Order: sequence, then C-alpha cells, then structure tokens
Amino acid sequence: MKTIQEARTLLQRLPQQSLGFYPTPLHRLERLSRQLGVELYLKRDDLSGVNLFGGNKIRKLEYLLGDAVDRGCGAAITYGATQSNHAMQTAAACRRCGLAPILYLVSVVEPDPRQLRANLLLDSVLGAEVHIVPMAPGETEAAAEARAFRMGADHAARLEAQGTGCCDIPMGGANPLGSVGFIGGWVELREQLEALGVAADWVCHATGTGGTLAGLAAGRALLGDDTRILPVSVSAKDTGYEARTARLANEALALLGAEERVEAEALAVARDYYAPGYEIPNEAGNGAVRLLARTEGILLDPVYSGKAFGGMVDQIRRGRIPQGSTVVFWHTGGATALFAEGEIVGDLAQREEG
Ligand SMILES: *Cc1c(COP(=O)(O)O)cnc(C)c1O
Repeated sequence: MKTIQEARTLLQRLPQQSLGFYPTPLHRLERLSRQLGVELYLKRDDLSGVNLFGGNKIRKLEYLLGDAVDRGCGAAITYGATQSNHAMQTAAACRRCGLAPILYLVSVVEPDPRQLRANLLLDSVLGAEVHIVPMAPGETEAAAEARAFRMGADHAARLEAQGTGCCDIPMGGANPLGSVGFIGGWVELREQLEALGVAADWVCHATGTGGTLAGLAAGRALLGDDTRILPVSVSAKDTGYEARTARLANEALALLGAEERVEAEALAVARDYYAPGYEIPNEAGNGAVRLLARTEGILLDPVYSGKAFGGMVDQIRRGRIPQGSTVVFWHTGGATALFAEGEIVGDLAQREEG
C-alpha cells in the first residue's frame, strides 16, 4: 500500500506526453444529490482536453504516445467503431505529438460518406488516414474487429519496413501502459477528495474494453482504498471479462514496479444496462441523458455514459448503493455521439409530444 506521494513517484517513471488539462474538475451535483438521496459527485474527464471533445482516452494516450514518441515513432494506428471516441481522441492526440494518425474503423453503424457526422467528421477534420472496415452480412462485431486488427498490423509492418516507426495501439487504448493513465486518474481523484474532506463509498463508470476499469482498480489497490467500483458494461461481455481486466490491472501495476494486486472478484461488472447492444440506445440510458441534462445542465451520451449513469441511478433506487452514500460518477466523455447517426441517438433526436 502506497501513499499518494509514493504513487506519484512511481507514475513519473514512465515517459509521458502532456495531452490534457489535469486534474479534471470534481464537483458535487447539488440538485441530483437531493433527488436521489446520495452525495453525488461528477469527475469530469469529459473536460480533459486536448480540445472540446476530450474524454477518458486522453489519460491513456499520455502514456501510450509518451512511449511512441520515446521510441521515435512517426505514426500510430488504432481501431474502433466508425463513431469511436477512442479513435477520434487518438487522432487529436497524435496531431499534438506530431505523429500521423491511422484509423481502422468497423462500420457497426453504416456512415453516410457524403454527410460525415460526429467523431467520423472530427477524424476527417483532423486529417486522420481512415480505413473503413465494413461488416460482412452475418459477421459479428468481434470477427470484423479481428479483421481490422490484422489489416492494421500489416499496415504497421509495411510502415516499419519503410523506416517509419509505427505504434500499434489496441482498441480503446486497452493495454497495460494505457491503464497506467487511470492509475494516475485514481490517485488524482483521491487527492481531490482529500482536499474536500470527503471519502467516496462508490465510484461508477462505463466500461467497454476494460482499460479504464483496470487502471481504476489498480489505483484503488495501489493506495489500499476500500471505495467500491461499479463498472457498468456498454456491450456484451463474456464470463472471462473480469479475469482479463484484473490481469490488465496487474500488468499495469507491474509496469510501475508495484507489488499490489487486483483480484477478479473485486471487479463485478453490471451487465444489465447495455441491451440491446453496443451503439444501440435503450430507454434507461436515454432517460439518464435527459435526467442529468434537465437537473444539472450536463450532457452525457447514449452509447457509454448515459447507460452507465442510468445503471448507477437504478442501483441507488434499488438500495444496492445505500441512501446517504458518497458516490462519484466518472464522466468519461462521449457527448459527440449526440450528433451521430439516428440509429445511435435514438429517440433523443425526436421532439417529445406535449
Ligand atoms: C471508451 C469509452 C469508455 C470505456 O472505456 P474503456 O477503457 O474502453 O472501458 C467509456 N466512456 C466513453 C465515453 C468512452 O469513449
């Protein structure tokens, strides 16, 4: 178990690029706290920078691109859906470091090439080299992603052969180095809570690839905190998800030379809130987007943060998160999805009756 100062010293061992504005704000939601009967705080990684459309991937990219720059890379390749927040944030971060961004994007939702929207539009403005990987009829997302990874790896090998160092970043930036960014995030949150004289009972966030969760859980273990983490999944997860995420957390701790460990049992992921699927909106998620917008004026998104916020509210209403608890919702960003294709936005794009 480390002190905050010891943790900071470990985090400084790895090369890092400064890509955002940290610490991101932490603030209380007065009206919603009263309404829900808990002390609710928001950790604003949606405001991380590097531009107006930041999000949780920037913390990971500070280490991922820190390493890429250190190794003298000239380009970075990454992966995601066509509306991937991670891909867009990677493109922006690459530009800031002088690397060429190359994206392999699976069209989970078919984009209109004459009318690019949301993140795909930003990828284009940022001048990223975009390769759309269409989903074949009947093909699963996982199969199309596997195809994209192979295409990207081939591309990286070609660039390396031509003498351009290329950093191959996994989907979501979910590798041990990326997760180190969220160990830093956890340490940052602890410092902010201490300054407020508050201890968090729960930290809740949306989990996709698991890189964020791995880092948060690793940070929690590193500081020996008993705060509980409620990860809300935004896509189908197999039963091995917690074990893989714990391994990722432990590999991130090992990169810091820390001996603390994360157990898979500590990572119970809530799987009840993503249906019918990734990038397909549901009533509770869109309801949560409206709830936060209408009580606090803050925007979530239908793909990630809305579903997670809805899950957290449900757990509070059911008493699984007891009344009076101090709860931090980690806002991971993603609000560009509000301007994405109609399939992604769902009924948020429709005028309400009455
Ligand atoms: C990527 C993303 C997540 C999930 O983070 P992982 O590290 O992939 O689990 C959550 N929210 C938003 C808005 C994201 O873009």
